[in-house]
Amino acid sequence: MTDQPQLSDSVRILRGVGPGMQEGLKKLGIESVADLLFHLPMRYEDRSQTKSIGDCRPGDRVLVEGFIQNSNIVRHRRAMLVVTLSDDTGSLSLRFFNFHAAQIRSLSRGVKLQAFGEIRGGARGLEMIHPSYQKSKNAEEEASLTPIYPSTEGIRQASWINLSEQALKILREDTSVLTELLPAALLLRQQLPELKTALLMLHRPDIDSELANMNRMDENFHHPARDRLVIEELLAHHLSMRRIQQQQQRRKALAFPLNPTLEDRFLQQLPFQLTRAQQRVITEIQQDLNRQQPMMRLLQGDVGCGKTVVAALSLLPVVAAGYQVAITAPTELLAEQHRDYFAQTLKPLGIDTVWLSSRVTGKAREQALHAIANGVAVVIGTHSLMQKTVEFKQLGLVIIDEQHRFGVHQRLALREKGQAGGHWPHQLIMTATPIPRTLAMTAYAGLQISVIDELPPGRTAVTTVAIDQQRREQVIERIAFACREGRQAYWVCTLIEESELLEAQAAEDTARQLSAELPDINIALVHGRMKPAEKSAIMTAFRNAEIKLLVATTVIEVGVDVPNASLMVIDNAERLGLSQLHQLRGRVGRGSEKSSCVLLFKPPLGETARARLDIMRATNDGFRIAEKDLELRGPGEVLGTRQTGALQFRLADLARDAALIQQVPQLAEALLNDHHRTDALIARWLGNAERYAEA
Ligand code: ADP
Ligand code: MG
Repeated sequence: MTDQPQLSDSVRILRGVGPGMQEGLKKLGIESVADLLFHLPMRYEDRSQTKSIGDCRPGDRVLVEGFIQNSNIVRHRRAMLVVTLSDDTGSLSLRFFNFHAAQIRSLSRGVKLQAFGEIRGGARGLEMIHPSYQKSKNAEEEASLTPIYPSTEGIRQASWINLSEQALKILREDTSVLTELLPAALLLRQQLPELKTALLMLHRPDIDSELANMNRMDENFHHPARDRLVIEELLAHHLSMRRIQQQQQRRKALAFPLNPTLEDRFLQQLPFQLTRAQQRVITEIQQDLNRQQPMMRLLQGDVGCGKTVVAALSLLPVVAAGYQVAITAPTELLAEQHRDYFAQTLKPLGIDTVWLSSRVTGKAREQALHAIANGVAVVIGTHSLMQKTVEFKQLGLVIIDEQHRFGVHQRLALREKGQAGGHWPHQLIMTATPIPRTLAMTAYAGLQISVIDELPPGRTAVTTVAIDQQRREQVIERIAFACREGRQAYWVCTLIEESELLEAQAAEDTARQLSAELPDINIALVHGRMKPAEKSAIMTAFRNAEIKLLVATTVIEVGVDVPNASLMVIDNAERLGLSQLHQLRGRVGRGSEKSSCVLLFKPPLGETARARLDIMRATNDGFRIAEKDLELRGPGEVLGTRQTGALQFRLADLARDAALIQQVPQLAEALLNDHHRTDALIARWLGNAERYAEA
């Protein structure tokens, strides 16, 4: 019919999209031009006003304009591009850790440049790290607010502008108007704009648009164009949950009654008494397992509350009936820890376990797969266990650990394995992420929720202090002193960029430095790029207290359990988000020993970073921390690679949109029987079925 580019076309038709970019976009769920239109700015910046460099202070987020004085590649630990920008009032260094040849060429001496970013006080005066920048334009050209898009490694803001510009052009010209999926009555009643109008407004607001205020931490901020899309997105999620729920209800499962003998034997070998909260949730789970409908239960409990033992008790009835249990964890390290724990506790009961990860290869893999196909009782592995071609003989229960950051939704759609004779396995999902009530109603519709709201007795709250990097030596002294007294400590290295390689290098440097300074203390290193065998050997040695100080990357973030370790130092703590800090700190305070956590930071601290460290010092309560986190994060925080797997909402914000979230179940009623619209909404916001299932 026409060669005109269309919204349904692949992003490949756009200028600037090569295979690399296409891959990056795909990670964010963007495959077609239309998908790009639904990738909306998270905030806007008014870049019509520049600030004199001489007036800039650390912490300011500003636009400056000047001429490039010089541009050098500096090799320190790693290569860095440093550009000096000057105006009549002063000069400023722009630092880039990632850069390419074309960039070096374009940032040459004499070029007039605008740079936007946060001012920091560096060793040699003011600087901006990875600012966004462009060559200066005429004043008239800058008539709209500059949108800032959520991004991922390797896609710069300039690319988002370029891509959205092309997509918007197609939107304006494509005659096959983007389908309006919200009922007209709803739009009218709520006074919301139509889809096309809303998209144009959100991608390119006028300079005086109210949208300029969206970046403020204002929970009451609302704009009809944004609300319209938020409602649409929330509806899509809600409807997909309802659909899964309906499917679920039609499914049959085998009922597994309690096996008191086996349970008693298990409890007798436990070195502690279960808490009341643990007992309560175990009863809830056991009741579910004894029904002929697949359990879909979310077990929530703060770090260290003892979810693992609940998992162990849950699997007993299934195993007693001769059915299999699969236990999955998100990281290799955590999965290995489960492997050891379950092997150790189940063996005395005569229950066999098998370990499978993508790194189990060759003959060992064949053997493992063979055992699984032949009905070995318990299989432990990483999440990939459920996606690979693993054939179970008869799977009765799937346990998924540490499904935090709201990834639960996708997990629900996980294609149940080993559906045998029309029976589906039960599912138990464990998370340390507290679930806000409003979210539970929408994103978790159809999930039963159990909460462990009590920590095992004898735990003392972790004392947390924030200390300036300049006093690093003192911190090292203090750690050394404690280690000499027989205590054990973690030293966690973190980096801004989500690169496992760089993080590993930083950890190696730190380990080397600490070993040199403290030759009498047994120090070891663990990071994500080490061989699994090396990693587990080190973790075992640490658990056996042969290693006193463990230098680690954030690989230890989830689930690692070494109760004797009672000290933690988090390097560059200002760079981490609250939930990550809380997860990390949860590695200590697990035994009866008094524990502490040192947050080492590099000043000057931005406002948000300061607020984060403050709340960490003030409380150990995961729920309060999660609430504060929502408040501080604002909408659609930049999506690091770490988060994309669990990416939930593209636009909706749990704190800001609480009121809208509450309306959704009711709004959905009108759409429930409209299968066509429901399909289209789910496809638009959650992507095609396959991506949805595998996310
Ligand atoms: P999480 O909920 O974070 O996964 P774990 O299951 O790893 O927590 O448990 C944390 C620690 O608490 C483990 O060392 C575990 O043995 C211990 N633990 C669990 N339940 C109890 C209990 N009722 N009393 C004492 N210690 C317990
Ligand atoms: Mg755990």
